[in-house]
Amino acid sequence: MNQHIKIKPDHRQIGQEQELFFFLDRSPGMPYWLPRGQRFFENLSGMMKDLLSAEGYQDVSGPVFNHQTLLQESGHWQKYQEDMFIVKDDKAQNFGLKAMNCPNAVQFYKFGKRSYKELPLRFSDQSLLFRNESSGALSGLFRLKQFRQDDAHIFVREDQMGDEIVKLFSLVNRIYEWFGLSFRMRLGGRPKKSIGSDEMWAKSEGILANSLRNSKIDYELAPEEGAFYGPKIDLLVKDSLAREWQLGSIQLDFLLPERFDLSYINEEGEKQRPVMIHRAIFGSFERFMAILLEHNHGKLPFSLAPEQVRLIPLGAVSSEFIDECSDALKHSGVESSIDKSSSSLNYKIREANRFKIPLVICLGPKEEESRLLQVRMQGDRSEVNLDDLRVFLARQKEGF
Ligand code: ZN
Repeated sequence: MNQHIKIKPDHRQIGQEQELFFFLDRSPGMPYWLPRGQRFFENLSGMMKDLLSAEGYQDVSGPVFNHQTLLQESGHWQKYQEDMFIVKDDKAQNFGLKAMNCPNAVQFYKFGKRSYKELPLRFSDQSLLFRNESSGALSGLFRLKQFRQDDAHIFVREDQMGDEIVKLFSLVNRIYEWFGLSFRMRLGGRPKKSIGSDEMWAKSEGILANSLRNSKIDYELAPEEGAFYGPKIDLLVKDSLAREWQLGSIQLDFLLPERFDLSYINEEGEKQRPVMIHRAIFGSFERFMAILLEHNHGKLPFSLAPEQVRLIPLGAVSSEFIDECSDALKHSGVESSIDKSSSSLNYKIREANRFKIPLVICLGPKEEESRLLQVRMQGDRSEVNLDDLRVFLARQKEGF
């Protein structure tokens, strides 16, 4: 056998091996998240929520079914009807299963009278979305019929647009740098099927291009790649397998505020129209999780791993010492477990490796006596005491 053949990682296989998720033939494009996979999602989603909350975002969650008239008003019914699951209620009214959050985001803005002092208003929504993808297009977690996005809609005054977009660039930078993923930006202009005036398109494209230049970001132009309601900046991310993914995007929208007659009261007490920014950084959580699994060959960063530390007791170690170590981990806020099975040490290590648990700690009578723990991390072994371990874990747990 050729020893140099590298096996390309496949997130479906990793998901099975590490017991993260599975698919059933009778639910195509709709994953079942096992406890480990669900924890992986919650760690990632929680890390994003913590960062966004510090950046002034607020979480919202609206109806899963949107009435036909709401989708007609936003233009999604005309444009996306074929990609939507449509259902009828008892009065034979049509509802579309939510394929995007924008129409709901507008409703949140419309709740109550808005003042210039409230803007920018940043609504973040990670709830489920549904798209009626054709069976042939489905591909593991990369393309699904139901998924979640790190979606947000920001309502700003016109004079705040430039600053808000620059702020988004630094957020994107911070997040992708943390993952060690490089990215480039692409500015997409007016597609053939689009709405809005030429002036509106020229103005929005100018604002996005200026923000990119002011932030000294190199970008390329893609003349017809914008959204149907406005131009957008796509984030193209490169992974360790040299694949490029279009993940997040930043879109400027003058149109939905007009269609829904959105307004705020300015300093002079007059009504003014806000501008809407649609933005996602990961895009679909599920697709991003699949990319991460393949990019890292199944190894997740410590703070995202569903199980972060596994304790393996050896020989005649006392239960008091095991409890002491386990409690220290719990107090550090770390996800840990104790392998109390009667299997051999080799088997236990193999099992911990199967789940790619970042830290494995063996506890025997020798460790109890010396109070120095044998810590294995990705092939490296070291000896540390409990206090040093606490400091080390706090560092490992840091998010974006
Ligand atoms: Zn949107």
